[in-house]
Amino acid sequence: MTDQANPLQHLIDNNQFWSQALSARDPDYFPRLSRQQHPKYLWIGCSDSRVPANEVVGLMPGELFVHRNVANMVVATDMNLLSVLQYAVDVLKVEHIIVCGHYGCGGVKAALGHQEYGLIDNWLRALKGMRYQYDDAFQHLSPEQEVDLLCEINVKRQVTNVCHTTIVQNAWHRGEKLSVHGWIYGLSDGRIHDLNVSVSGHHQLIDAFIYTL
Ligand SMILES: [Zn+2]
Repeated sequence: MTDQANPLQHLIDNNQFWSQALSARDPDYFPRLSRQQHPKYLWIGCSDSRVPANEVVGLMPGELFVHRNVANMVVATDMNLLSVLQYAVDVLKVEHIIVCGHYGCGGVKAALGHQEYGLIDNWLRALKGMRYQYDDAFQHLSPEQEVDLLCEINVKRQVTNVCHTTIVQNAWHRGEKLSVHGWIYGLSDGRIHDLNVSVSGHHQLIDAFIYTL
């Protein structure tokens, strides 16, 4: 195959340009990164292509440990999420876990509708439950406002779910400095809003969900 026939050649070219530009600025940048990573933050965000984790918070490679899935869900049986979380907390010793949703989330929109999309509907099912749990708050809203409200409620719920894992609670038992935060990103202006639901210890959890070792 020639270069011209490769439909992804422009991506490879972009990569080489990016790599050269960074190396020109700091010749030891990639050698240093290749030896180890010390990110202080774990980002749990949506897979949506419009919310690139590092870029929206101005962080470089090596500074943000990232897990993304559709609608930034934290599911207690998701081995992928749990493995990322455990490695980030126990090995990398991140100090902050950020659950970042975004307004206009397609996964949230899908959960509010009645169309079947396939396997993904099972992944999004918990969102339907949240919609009906907070039924009163959804009265008299436009369809767009309903989506955005459920996006916010979802972030808050997923922050709670992170705090309810044994991984985070064990870190608090060990006296480690670890906070969990809930943010939401606006697609229309590129701005992040803090939902002010940060949690940094057992004392901020409902008793039923606290593990005692
Ligand atoms: Zn989304």
